[in-house]
Amino acid sequence: MPFIIAIDGPAASGKGTIARALARHFGFHHLDTGLLYRATGALGGDAVAAARGLSPADLQGEGLRSAEAGQAASRIAAIPEVRAALVEFQHRFAAQEPGAVLDGRDIGTVICPDAAVKLYVVASDEVRAERRAAELGADPAEMLAQLRERDLRDSQRATAPLRPADDAVVLDTSRLSIDEAVARAIAEVARVRGG
Ligand code: C5P
Repeated sequence: MPFIIAIDGPAASGKGTIARALARHFGFHHLDTGLLYRATGALGGDAVAAARGLSPADLQGEGLRSAEAGQAASRIAAIPEVRAALVEFQHRFAAQEPGAVLDGRDIGTVICPDAAVKLYVVASDEVRAERRAAELGADPAEMLAQLRERDLRDSQRATAPLRPADDAVVLDTSRLSIDEAVARAIAEVARVRGG
């Protein structure tokens, strides 16, 4: 049975960096599920049709990491039929041996509720805005407003809202370097795998 690691949390909390590092460390596959929603939003037109027809090539699209693509993703991610259309792809991905790391908003709660390890990665709003501003070369105040708007939409939607699973371990990266955050995540996975 593949070993599944579910990593959720708000935008720019550090979950993507941690997910990539865990996958590298343990030799697992990694899926940034935000890309599915970003690519769906970027295709434009009818979002449900776009999600149903999404191809792996669409995930390589230009500009998917932009703040605008993030906002568009968050809007179409509130549509239940869009989410339903993306479930099977994520389940297939998670079924790969020897294991998979999926990061997103609803991995531990909806997509992989039986994941062996669930991490919920958080950081203060200000730290997240600084990180995203540095990454995109944008204004921190503008990023702060956008992140808050997106988090609010993601956590208040009716279907698969952003929230920690009851059995998730919360990891606050506000005061941690990348190496420290990754080391804590690795320690948590190692604890579960060893036990
Ligand atoms: O993680 P990322 O910032 O790329 O996600 C973009 C948007 O996609 C999020 O704001 C959220 O609305 C949506 N998303 C989601 N469920 C996931 C991953 C992302 O609703 N599992």
